[in-house]
Amino acid sequence: MLRIGCHLSSSKGFLAMGKEAINIGANTFQFFTRNPRGGKAKELDTKDLAAYLDFAEEHGIAQILAHAPYTLNACAKDEGLRQFAYDTMCDDLRRLEHIPNAMYNFHPGSHVKQGTEIGIGYISDLLNRINEKGYHATILLETMAGKGTEIGRNFEELRTIIDRVEENSNLGVCMDTCHVFDGGYDIVGNLEEVIEEFHSVVGLCRLKAVHLNDSMNLLGSHKDRHEKIGEGKIGLEAFRAIVTHSKLRELPFFLETPNDLEGYQREIALLRQMAEA
Ligand code: FE
Ligand code: FE
Ligand code: ZN
Repeated sequence: MLRIGCHLSSSKGFLAMGKEAINIGANTFQFFTRNPRGGKAKELDTKDLAAYLDFAEEHGIAQILAHAPYTLNACAKDEGLRQFAYDTMCDDLRRLEHIPNAMYNFHPGSHVKQGTEIGIGYISDLLNRINEKGYHATILLETMAGKGTEIGRNFEELRTIIDRVEENSNLGVCMDTCHVFDGGYDIVGNLEEVIEEFHSVVGLCRLKAVHLNDSMNLLGSHKDRHEKIGEGKIGLEAFRAIVTHSKLRELPFFLETPNDLEGYQREIALLRQMAEA
């Protein structure tokens, strides 16, 4: 069965998210660990979490994806900002210790004109430091659109980061369809080749999740503007090919399309229908 969900607001807690997911036909979901702009996280509500874990077990939610605030920059120029990224990620990962099988996705960062080499160095330093803590969540680097000075604009950059982390068995990649398309990977015209390239550069064993988003912009635009499934430049047929692909269909899929819950419900139903046809 297709594992699919969408991004949900975490403001009402875990049990509320679990119920929301089930109500819209999802069997997983993604959430921000705190205000996406940074901010302080609420203390973990252990009662809510215990109720959620029972609910998840009962309703078949086996694995969920936490998303780090997108304002964190592990390769900022300012040391204080890099330390803030490290502290925030550690705090997030410490909370996730209470959730079995959790995965934690983050945007590698923007090198802010220091250059890719320095940026990659800072990101791998941060991951090496995090790994000294021995957290259990799988940490995912997200493929980025290459807007501005974003790191992770191609598979090679992600591979280089992973290679520079000493104990890297807990690292994986989350492929965002809008981002890779905007980054110049033609998942519409040649999905097979993109998957092969990912495999030869990073290795498909590292691919742990997919963000399903259509794109408002053209292949290689480096823009990162998400569109509803089938309403952008990627188009429905490419999503059909993605959710039915033998190398992808077992992965968890997460929608981050501009939608309310009803819109997500429709997209989940549509993608399930395509996957199970
Ligand atoms: Fe993201
Ligand atoms: Fe994404
Ligand atoms: Zn995006």
